[in-house]
Amino acid sequence: MEPCDDCTMLEHELWRASDHYVGLIVQHDQMMRDGKPEASTLDITIKRARRRRNAAARLLLAHRGTHEDLSLPKTITAGQL
Ligand SMILES: [Zn+2]
Repeated sequence: MEPCDDCTMLEHELWRASDHYVGLIVQHDQMMRDGKPEASTLDITIKRARRRRNAAARLLLAHRGTHEDLSLPKTITAGQL
């Protein structure tokens, strides 16, 4: 399967969303360790970031699915060789 511009764009979007989400988790853990009361205010931000990451992952998967339809005959041929 050849990745198209949309693949690249969606992958980048997912990577950025994941990176952001993981960064927030690390930040949250650090705040908890330091016993900072503001840690709880991050919960909503983290939930929002997780939703964004999941949405990005779904978009990428859905888009990849459109490629699989196109490349299906090729896959079958390759399996028969
Ligand atoms: Zn694509």
